[in-house]
Amino acid sequence: MHLRHRSPKVLIGVSLFGAMACAAQQPIRITADLTDAPRKLYHAEVDIPVHAGPVALTTPEWIPGNHMPTGPVQDIVGVVFTANGKTLPWTRDETDLYQFHVEVPADVTSLHAHLDCIVTTRVSDHIAVLEWEKLLLYPAHTPVRDIAIQPSVIVPVGWGIGTALTPTKPFDPNTKPGGTVQFEPTTVEQLQDSPIITGEYFHEFPLAPDISPKHYIDVVSDQPADSNLRPELRAEISNLVREADAAYASHHYHAYHFLLTLSDITGGEGLEHGQSSDNGIGEKGFSDTRHQLANADLLAHEFTHSWNGKYRRPWNLYQPDFATMQQGELLWVYEGMTQYLGNVLAARAGLKSQAQYRDLLALSAANLDNKPGRDWRSTDDTAIAASILRGRDMTWSNLRRGQDYYQEGELLWLDADTLIRQLTDDKKSLTDFLQIFLAKGGNTGPLIVPYHREELIADLNQVAPYDWAGFLHDRIDLIHPQADLAGIERGGYKLAYRDHPSESELTMTAASARAATSTASPQRMTAGPNVWYSLGLRLNGEAIITDIRWNGPADKAQLAPGEKLIAINGHVYNADALHEAIVAAQSSKDPIHLLIQSEDTIRPADIDYHGGERYPVMVRVDGTKDYLDEITTPLAKPPVAK
Ligand SMILES: [Zn+2]
Repeated sequence: MHLRHRSPKVLIGVSLFGAMACAAQQPIRITADLTDAPRKLYHAEVDIPVHAGPVALTTPEWIPGNHMPTGPVQDIVGVVFTANGKTLPWTRDETDLYQFHVEVPADVTSLHAHLDCIVTTRVSDHIAVLEWEKLLLYPAHTPVRDIAIQPSVIVPVGWGIGTALTPTKPFDPNTKPGGTVQFEPTTVEQLQDSPIITGEYFHEFPLAPDISPKHYIDVVSDQPADSNLRPELRAEISNLVREADAAYASHHYHAYHFLLTLSDITGGEGLEHGQSSDNGIGEKGFSDTRHQLANADLLAHEFTHSWNGKYRRPWNLYQPDFATMQQGELLWVYEGMTQYLGNVLAARAGLKSQAQYRDLLALSAANLDNKPGRDWRSTDDTAIAASILRGRDMTWSNLRRGQDYYQEGELLWLDADTLIRQLTDDKKSLTDFLQIFLAKGGNTGPLIVPYHREELIADLNQVAPYDWAGFLHDRIDLIHPQADLAGIERGGYKLAYRDHPSESELTMTAASARAATSTASPQRMTAGPNVWYSLGLRLNGEAIITDIRWNGPADKAQLAPGEKLIAINGHVYNADALHEAIVAAQSSKDPIHLLIQSEDTIRPADIDYHGGERYPVMVRVDGTKDYLDEITTPLAKPPVAK
C-alpha cells in the first residue's frame, strides 16, 4: 500500500479523461439491441459523425486478451448505411475484410449504420453477453483511444444488467430495469474493454466493503437459483479482493465488476478487462466446493489481469488500433505470471485449499515435464506462436506443444519467487517485485502502460540483485527437454508419481463427468482413465485415443490418435479392465494385449509396459523450508468487525 513509484515517463497510455479531451468531434452513438438474443441475433444502430467524401469504417479484428484475430466480421450481417433518409451504397475493402467504404454526400455530417450480428455463443433463452466487437463500427486508421463513443443498450424487460460502464442515470441493477439504459460517453478502446452481461436471473453483490474502490460480482444464470451465490463463496471472493489489494498495492480501475455467467448452454469464458472480467462456467460450477475446484482460480486469474496484462502490457501486444497484429512475445509474463498469481491468490483467498493448490500444481508440472514437443520448441516460441496454437485439437498435441507459456510461466514465476526468498533470507518475495512493477504510477483509472523485458529485469534486480537476464534467457529462450521444477524443489517438495491419483485429481475427473452428462452439452466429452504417465496415451470417455505421447509405450506399439480401444487382454474395454491389465503387467513379462479399431478395421496391438500405474503427486521433502505453504498463506488482514 505504501509503494507508489512514480515514473511518469513510462506512462504513454492515455487515461479515459485524457482520451475524451483529444476526441474533439461529436461522439459516435451506438445502441445495442439484445432483445433478440434468445434467437441468436444482436442488432445495432450506430450514428457516426462524418465529413463529405470517402470514409472507411471498420470493425475490430484483434481483440485484446484473445491472442488471435477473433473479431466476428463473418457474423456481422444486415449492414445498411443511410444519411438524410437515403440509403448509401457500400463496398468491402478487398484486402482488409473488416473495412467498409462509403462515399458520404455533400452536406451530410452524420452517417447512420444498421447492423446485425449472428451470435451462437454466450447466449441462451435467459442470458446474453455483449462483447462490443460484435456491433462496433468506427473510422478506420484512427487510434481507438481517440474515438469518442456514447453507448446504450436495450435488453429484454425484467433482465438485469452487469457492466463496468457508468449509467447516465443511477439505477439499482437488482431492480432489473430492462428497456434502454444509456451509459456515459467513453472511447472505442474502453467500450471494447467493457462488456455487458444481462439476464433474467440476475444478482449483483457488493464485495469486500472495507476495500476501496468498490468491487462487485454480477451474476446471471439459466436456472433461477444459481445466480444467488452461496454466502461462503461470496466471502471467498471478498477475500480475493483483499488479497489482490495486499499483493498488488495499487489498482487501475474506478470500480471493478466480476461478470459471471452460470450456464451449461452459453459456453465457457474467461476474458480480462481493465475494470471487469467476463467469466463463464457451467451452471453448477460454483454450487459447492467440489464443483468449485475446476474453476477455483478463474476469477483470481482474470482479476489479476487488470494489473498484469491490461495496465502493464507487453509493448508489442499493445496496438493503438484493433487492426494491427498483437504480438505474443512476452505472454509468459502477461499470461504466465497471471497463471501463477491466479492460483496463489485463489489459495490465499480460500477458493481452494493449500493441499489442492499443490495437487493441481503437480498435475500441471507433470504434464509439462512429459511433453516431447519441448525437444524442438522453446517456451518463447509457444508465446510468439500463440495465435496459431490456440484452439488446436489434442491430436499429437504433446509433440506440437500448446499455449505452454501459461503453465511454463507459472513454474518460472514460482522459481523466481522462491529464489528471491532464498536470496534475501526470507526478507523479500515476488510480492516486492509486484508492488514495483504493477504499481508504477500509483492508483490510476484504466490505463495501458507498455513494458519491455529489460524493465522486468531491472525491477527484479531492485528487489534482489541477481543475473535475472540470464535466468529469463535460460528458461524462456532455450530448449529444455524437462520442465523447470526448481521452484517446486526450492519450495520444499518433489514432483513424484504413485499408483493412485490425488484427491484433487479425482475431484476434477468427477467434475468433468458431471459436466459431460449435464443438459445441452452433447459435444462435451468426459475424460477417460489417466494412463498418460503409464501407457503414454490419453483416452476420452468413449475409449477413443485423443493423444499418444511421442516415444512412449503406446507410440512404440504404433497406436494412433483417433483409434478406439475395443478390448484389453481378451476383455471388452472398460476403465477397470485397463487398470487391472496395467497392474498385472507389473509382475509379468507378457505385454498388454489390445484390440484396436482403426477407422473400419480391427487389429491386435501389444504394449510392452511393466511400470505400473503412475499419477503425479507432490511429495514433501523433510527438513526443507515449506515455501509452497508460505506462498499460499493469506497476506491480507481480516476485515475489522464493525
Ligand atoms: Zn489470462
